[in-house]
Amino acid sequence: GGSLQIYERMQQLMEEKNIPCSIWLEEEPHGETIGLKKSGCHGFCEMGPLLRIEPMGWLYIKVKVEDCEEILEKSILGDEVIDRLVYKDAEGNPYQCQEEIPFYRNQMRLALEHCGHINAESIKEYIAVGGYSAMAKALFDMTQTEIIDEITKSCLRGRGGGGFPTGKKWAQVQAQTDPVKYIVCNGDEGDPGAFMDRSMMEGDPHRVLEGMMIAGIATGAHEGYIYVRAEYPLAVARLQRAIELAEEFGILGENILNSGYDFWIHISQGAGAFVCGEGSALTASIEGNRGMPRVKPPRTVEHGLFQKPTVLNNVETYCNVPTIILKGSEWYQSIGPEGNHGTKAFALTGNVNNTGLIEVPMGTTLRQIIFDLGGGVKGGDFKAVQIGGPSGGCLTKEHLDMRLDFDSLKKVGAMIGSGGLVVMNDKSCMVEVARFFMNFTQNESCGKCIPCREGTKRMLEILERIVAGQGTLEDLDLLQELADTITETALCGLGKSAAFPVISTLKYFRDEYVAHVQDKN
Ligand code: SF4
Repeated sequence: GGSLQIYERMQQLMEEKNIPCSIWLEEEPHGETIGLKKSGCHGFCEMGPLLRIEPMGWLYIKVKVEDCEEILEKSILGDEVIDRLVYKDAEGNPYQCQEEIPFYRNQMRLALEHCGHINAESIKEYIAVGGYSAMAKALFDMTQTEIIDEITKSCLRGRGGGGFPTGKKWAQVQAQTDPVKYIVCNGDEGDPGAFMDRSMMEGDPHRVLEGMMIAGIATGAHEGYIYVRAEYPLAVARLQRAIELAEEFGILGENILNSGYDFWIHISQGAGAFVCGEGSALTASIEGNRGMPRVKPPRTVEHGLFQKPTVLNNVETYCNVPTIILKGSEWYQSIGPEGNHGTKAFALTGNVNNTGLIEVPMGTTLRQIIFDLGGGVKGGDFKAVQIGGPSGGCLTKEHLDMRLDFDSLKKVGAMIGSGGLVVMNDKSCMVEVARFFMNFTQNESCGKCIPCREGTKRMLEILERIVAGQGTLEDLDLLQELADTITETALCGLGKSAAFPVISTLKYFRDEYVAHVQDKN
């Protein structure tokens, strides 16, 4: 809201002062015009609204509508930096440009490369920064096998949570003999505290389309669906506009770039059920059925959407694909530890000074993320971080120097999930944290299977009892038993991971549970 008001005020001022702007002259910015653009999210949420001035790269933070006239006069028409709007270090020394600020300097932005820089509603801008050239390369210069080999060699793993190898999934779909196949993009992102996919869809929608198209070329599919939650109206609008523009430009639809290859993309809006992020529930929802998981096998790669072979990846996974095709798997493999290559976007929230959206090489430590990028813990000392939303787990001080990647997290019973990182200081009550997440999963359980439907309810009752000071030590054993049973027997990922926050807090912060129980005595 704030950013939009600033954009509108700047536009109004430029019109009043008769300053030619490339946007309303519909041309590229040149010596006599100024370009004013609504970019996607810059990621530095704590400091927003943000305004970046090119080509210097000055980043103005916490900009107010009242600042616009001064910015226009001094920094855009003149070349003066407005000191009070610049981000400064602890000693008060200003950073010269956005890229020098530690929050940005310590990142490696691949999937988020264009977010905050290009106008998400302009296909010309996307093409100008190399957009759709990976799709053209895949379409004209590579065979299906070569594309899949490149993705396989890159070791790209699904960024939606499980970390399944993307190349392997594509190869399985390509091997199916059914002439009808689908490419599905999971943009449901229901984890509390996660907004990575949202930023990519809002800030760089053509990149999502391009990744899906490359998957289509590689597997022989001609139709794709983006499943995006209706609570993301800007993402829906920008994806819709991107599809229309790509069709107008002959990049999407029939006979793409006169190649003889057709590929269509549709948007399907979800109604906000967390369980619809699960693959089989998601495809059921697109088909118009109730979004409920089903027993597997058959797997989605064989019988997915409309019972056809389906590639299902999330937004961030598709956003990595164009870069791999252009720069090659060898380059991609040079980032991150063995078997966990590339980067990962995280939504950094909670008791941290610089909340926001970040993207770092796989294997970056929690300490680097919280202290170098996040600027340290707010309101106290570091206590824990909840990673991956309700399906993740909590990490503590002993994990600060652990590499964040799929395999390292698995070893300590946690997972990246979609990439939410909620930082907690030493004033946070971990039993309350476990209760919060259990309340969420209990509400979101679809009710199809008993362990999840009944088990999460009983666990929530126990947690509420403990938080209210009415629990017993036996309750802790019962919690553990229920957690183990649900994890082993629930039908889908939501249920299988519903107890993770309780399991990890019981493991690392049992003393807090005991204190709650004993306080009442
Ligand atoms: Fe539904 Fe929970 Fe069972 Fe999944 S585990 S099918 S969400 S009841």
